[in-house]
Amino acid sequence: MNRRTINAVIVLGVISVVCILLIQMISINRTEALQERNIRVQQREDSLNLVHFADRTQITLRNVLRQIKRANSDSSDVFEAVKMIDNNYFRVEFYGELESFELGSWLSRELYDQNIPHNFHYSIYDCFDKSIEFSPLIVYDGSEFIADSSEIPDWPEKDTLATDHYFTIFFPDIYEELKPIKEADTISPYTYLVLIVVFVLLFFGFAVMVIFRQKRLSEVKTDFINNMTHELKTPISSIGLSSEMIMRTDPKDDPDKIKRYAGLIFKENKRLENQVERVLNIAKLDKHEITLKKEAFDIHELLNEVKDNIEFNQNESGGKIELELNAEKCVLNVDPVHISNVVYNLVDNAIKYCQKKPEIQIRTSNDKRGFMLEIQDNGIGIRREDLKMIFDKFYRVPTGNLHDVKGFGLGLYYVKKIVEEHQGTVYARSALNKGTTFVINFPYED
Ligand code: ADP
Repeated sequence: MNRRTINAVIVLGVISVVCILLIQMISINRTEALQERNIRVQQREDSLNLVHFADRTQITLRNVLRQIKRANSDSSDVFEAVKMIDNNYFRVEFYGELESFELGSWLSRELYDQNIPHNFHYSIYDCFDKSIEFSPLIVYDGSEFIADSSEIPDWPEKDTLATDHYFTIFFPDIYEELKPIKEADTISPYTYLVLIVVFVLLFFGFAVMVIFRQKRLSEVKTDFINNMTHELKTPISSIGLSSEMIMRTDPKDDPDKIKRYAGLIFKENKRLENQVERVLNIAKLDKHEITLKKEAFDIHELLNEVKDNIEFNQNESGGKIELELNAEKCVLNVDPVHISNVVYNLVDNAIKYCQKKPEIQIRTSNDKRGFMLEIQDNGIGIRREDLKMIFDKFYRVPTGNLHDVKGFGLGLYYVKKIVEEHQGTVYARSALNKGTTFVINFPYED
């Protein structure tokens, strides 16, 4: 996938997310407007219901009052006597005698006849001795009214100063029954929208990350294949040329020349073998097929050997290695072959990535974390953004046309893997055009 396609995918993704958001917001706005309208309608209906309820209750109470009057042979007006104190609370004045059980049964019957199936309490006030008698809660169970003595009435008002007898009726549940919409239950749809957006953005971010990772991986693999072909081509063509020369030369005429070409073939073949071996080693490392053969190994001895070998090979360029071997404990329990490869890899890189006379400093020390090894060069250095990735498999710093150094991007990956297999750590610090220092730490084994 090239850069343009990725950009197109990202732009299309962003446009789709924005469109989804807009559609969601429009639909939420509409739903909210509809909901508000419904609530207004509902509230209106509720208030109408309350008015209707109050009207019917007053009719009921007048009927009850007529029955009381009939029983007391009283012919006074019933309209003034019924007073609505609240939508669910009424008071009725009367003259004469009234028994609580009588009032209870009249109220129950009339409420039933008027189809007012709501629980109620009533009380009777006697103006002579200024006492109030309270009823228990009268519950409508779906077919009839029944007294429920377990409920303690919660009266809104206890007025004992009236000059006439009266009785009151109170419907405790009316407001709740007429309020079907409970606002606390409703979670704002924007909360859901925010959750969905967060989820979509997370998913989108993850998808973009995967695309970039895949892209980098495929670039890195292509680079590796190009490098590998290039690296293998040189020894193969050298071998081809040398063998052609041998075929053309008569062994009797020039045996030295033949020996030279044979030596070249042997050297190039060794180089090929080494390169194939390096790649195979990495594959084994990845599959955890490499088993370390640990033994007591003197790191200082190795470093002296490295110095001699490298300085011998760098004779022409005048490259130098300075050793500062300060570690008192330098014999470690490690795999000598792999640890030698690690050191050679780092020193080779120090020379490879240097455009002037290589000056390498190798220092050892002991600290509380264990054995420390530092390899410092005066090479081209590594930019901060590349420094994070140099230990990744196949990673090579993109150097453009600045220099043409061969490699597979596997050396530092191998270094890191081997150091970690020894429970050690490795990191690099670098300054561009000044040099790089690789620091390795091996903890002591108890
Ligand atoms: P290779 O050398 O085969 O490319 P490595 O894994 O050894 O692979 O190194 C990865 C990259 O890190 C190199 O391509 C190079 O750009 C950078 N690098 C490694 N060592 C040094 C160093 N001493 N100085 C500057 N750059 C380095």
